[in-house]
Amino acid sequence: MGSFSRFTCSPCDLTVEVNGSGEIDYGMRSASLTLVCGECCQIATASVRVPKERMYEMALHDLRRLPSCAVCRSKQVQVWKDGDPCPRCHGPLVRDPDFLCLWD
Ligand SMILES: [Zn+2]
Ligand SMILES: [Zn+2]
Repeated sequence: MGSFSRFTCSPCDLTVEVNGSGEIDYGMRSASLTLVCGECCQIATASVRVPKERMYEMALHDLRRLPSCAVCRSKQVQVWKDGDPCPRCHGPLVRDPDFLCLWD
């Protein structure tokens, strides 16, 4: 089962919809990470095929292995997670409690 979450930033009106809860989601052979781009400030969900046990370590320490930005192809991406600030204005990104979409 998967889900979408939506986060909004009221100071700058950035709205992002991420796969999952905004945390790292582990599948059988891949993990779903939410990445934020330092160039264009877009937040996107990326699937990375890695062994589960190395995922956390890789995400935090081996940033070169992260996929590039889906929008501008920049490599300046970082892992974003629920609670991190808006990449554009550094305001609070707040989870929209009315928006939760589940599927099997
Ligand atoms: Zn980008
Ligand atoms: Zn913002």
